[in-house]
Amino acid sequence: AAKNPNEPEFLQAVEEVAETVIPFIEENPKYKKAKILERIAEPERVIMFRVPWINDQGEVEINRGYRIQMNSAIGPYKGGLRFHPSVNLSILKFLAFEQVFKNSLTTLPIGGGKGGSDFDPKGKSDNEVMRFCQSFMTELSKHIGADTDVPAGDIGVGGREIGYMYGQYKRLRNEFTGVLTGKGIEYGGSLIRPEATGYGCVYFAANMLDKAGHSFKGKTVAISGSGNVAQFACEKVNELGGKVVTMSDSSGFIYDTNGIDGEKLEFIMELKNVKRGRIKEYADKYGCEFHEGRPWSVNVDIALPCATQNELNEEEAKQLVANKLLAVAEGANMPCTPEAVEVFQKSGVLYAPGKASNAGGVATSALEMSQNSLRLSWTREEVDAKLKGIMKSIHEACVKYGETDNGVDYVKGANIAGFVKVADSMLAQGYV
Ligand code: NDP
Repeated sequence: AAKNPNEPEFLQAVEEVAETVIPFIEENPKYKKAKILERIAEPERVIMFRVPWINDQGEVEINRGYRIQMNSAIGPYKGGLRFHPSVNLSILKFLAFEQVFKNSLTTLPIGGGKGGSDFDPKGKSDNEVMRFCQSFMTELSKHIGADTDVPAGDIGVGGREIGYMYGQYKRLRNEFTGVLTGKGIEYGGSLIRPEATGYGCVYFAANMLDKAGHSFKGKTVAISGSGNVAQFACEKVNELGGKVVTMSDSSGFIYDTNGIDGEKLEFIMELKNVKRGRIKEYADKYGCEFHEGRPWSVNVDIALPCATQNELNEEEAKQLVANKLLAVAEGANMPCTPEAVEVFQKSGVLYAPGKASNAGGVATSALEMSQNSLRLSWTREEVDAKLKGIMKSIHEACVKYGETDNGVDYVKGANIAGFVKVADSMLAQGYV
């Protein structure tokens, strides 16, 4: 903590991992001697830079850009870019740290990184977003590459932003390589990448439910967020026979007891991805309830937090449990506070941490990298089958390292399974 003052989110993420990994290290002294955990908690490299750009009024605006190159023991740095006014060093370091374990869990050869900017795309014109992305990539391009560091999207960075950044990278380097993932399908993107995090989260939850003798069929589900992850989580829950009753954005949540079916979800996709409007418009159109705040007061079997970090606290966890909660699978990164996680685990609710349950996105990004290297495109069915297989193997890894007398501790399982591969690689590579 003394080394990283003013970084509460980063410390929170490290503490959560340390709690389960330290006892494992005590049993395996080779990791202790080589100070593996201490080294994993220190980024290999942090890059911070100025991003000047011109707004539509002709004025100069200045944002701050970041790339955290956290760990390259098992492959090139890999992790998303976040554009949101809340972005700071602490948040990106927590995300990069989580990414190392998550990427290891996918079984694919990718190291961990994260980056972004405090730029707020909300309310900006397409031209402003383009000028910002070009300026951001002008500096970032010096530090990334298809075999070095391959960024992707995250909050505030979707297909539009990836396209502008890819265009600028290509122009600067004069090379067409797989330096970013989440690209459009016409220029090197992978089918199923947009769907992958949301679908993967639901696949993981389905595995977890199945092991406990349940399924999505007939279950009511609360989802938070209405962005990329939330939309495709909703689509997959519908497909598996569940009923999604909430979605949200930073202004509040909709509560539709009839369920957000395919047609209504299409309205949300158009509203959020094209018109860039607010979720309240759904309530106006379909005549359901709209409330300010977060959707955790409703009565559901399954909760899928898919918006942002620390969006579900202890009180909300108790409320969900007092209703009839059976399972939580995190689509977002660290959406449940440590106190909320404790409530779930103590009350026997099945709980999947994001580094396991939202790993489908980065896994499919790695599949996009493979296709780029091979100069081939796989079909939807092929990619979806691989994604499903990967989520199943992540679930198995969690069970292997997390099985206890009272069921599976998915936090412990994910942390240790993710740790072992990175730690062994670091041991083999010496003190670097
Ligand atoms: P999007 O930008 O597409 O959507 C984010 C959603 O969350 C929006 O509905 C947004 O509402 C809401 N939100 C964001 N910040 C806040 C906040 N501070 N308070 C309340 N609501 C908020 O992002 P994604 O769907 O891509 O990402 C969502 C989460 O999933 C993040 O934690 C991300 O790190 C994680 N994730 C994403 C992956 C991906 O492949 N995209 C992969 C793995 C994890 P509003 O529109 O009002 O801002």
